[in-house]
Amino acid sequence: MSFLTHLECPSCNHTFEPFLVLNLCPKCSKPLLARYDLEKAAAKIDLKNLHDRARSIWRFPEVLPVGDPACRISLGEGWTPLIKAERLGHSAKHDFLYIKDEGSNPTGSFKARGLGMAVSCALERGVKALSIPSAGNAAGALSAYAAKAGLKAHVFMPRDVPSPFVVECEVLGAEVTLVDGLINDAGRLAAAHPDAKNRFDVSTLKEPYRIEGKKTMGYEIAEQFGWVLPDVLIYPTGGGTGLIGMWKAFEEMEEMGWIGRKRPRMVSVQAEGCAPMVRAFESGEKHAEMWQNASTKASGLRVPGAVGDFLILEAIRESSGTALTVSDEAMIEAARRIGAAEGLFVAPEGAATFAAFEQLKAKNWIQSDDKVVLFNTGSGHKYYQIWED
Ligand SMILES: *Cc1c(COP(=O)(O)O)cnc(C)c1O
Repeated sequence: MSFLTHLECPSCNHTFEPFLVLNLCPKCSKPLLARYDLEKAAAKIDLKNLHDRARSIWRFPEVLPVGDPACRISLGEGWTPLIKAERLGHSAKHDFLYIKDEGSNPTGSFKARGLGMAVSCALERGVKALSIPSAGNAAGALSAYAAKAGLKAHVFMPRDVPSPFVVECEVLGAEVTLVDGLINDAGRLAAAHPDAKNRFDVSTLKEPYRIEGKKTMGYEIAEQFGWVLPDVLIYPTGGGTGLIGMWKAFEEMEEMGWIGRKRPRMVSVQAEGCAPMVRAFESGEKHAEMWQNASTKASGLRVPGAVGDFLILEAIRESSGTALTVSDEAMIEAARRIGAAEGLFVAPEGAATFAAFEQLKAKNWIQSDDKVVLFNTGSGHKYYQIWED
């Protein structure tokens, strides 16, 4: 049972009926957020008795936006391990270092959470075809969940995306269009397509439900730490859906009385060659300007502009967090250290969090008794070329 009540625009405060098929706020074109009757949800969920619940993103359907259980499309996403990185922590002289390993998700990244949720919602609301601009992993996840739901997927990716990302979508039955340019150009082309009006656009934060899928990382972290949140979360930021989603999860859990006021300091990591959030954070801006000539081998971070920029910046600032960049070389070197120490083949985006951790530790921004969680957002497998170069 879902206690979804309405969609709300946090920018203009208008509210909308939750079973409409909506993208951005029809009034002001900003992202919409799903809202729940949290009092009823809290009364329904017994935290002392969770063993019968799904070990997936569907663990707490009361605070998820799908009412009909038959529309909950699942390939086994979520409920990923929180690993205490003993050997890696030892090499970095830090006792409380953890990795939330999202690499084991279907299609090899945490995009499975967001797109599992978005496709389920689309199915429940009667959508037949979906489209997405993607830097790589989101396209694969959409292709998989659309296939499982029996919906048509149209994916638009930059032409220079590593070939495993393209092959994956094709094998999963999606229609693939390669675009000259970056993810934002792909988005423009998808929207300008003659059939665009017959396809529901699931661009990140341009529809309200991918964030609901990604917020489940926040619920999992809380549960895995015994309902006391850790001190620092380090998150590789492209569109920022995971960071915004977890921030929303913390708010919901506090309102339901599951956690206290304490929040982790939220750290956003970007690539040196594409760092719009870091620049906006450092210059005190509310919104981030588009990054010109974005370039990084971490495809998930090659996002020059984010619709939810103001939400990312708010979460970082409210949490007393920070934002910083990492070079591609440092990511690759960090991936090798994580791999050799922990047995995890991580995506360069995930590796960036460890490189950022070491920078922050050297500056004493991270103290020796801080509990720190690194988000490994994906598996390294689809990035063949970068390990060989
Ligand atoms: C998409 C992606 C990111 C960035 O996630 P956002 O929620 O868009 O910020 C990071 N890492 C990987 C592996 C990704 O696929």
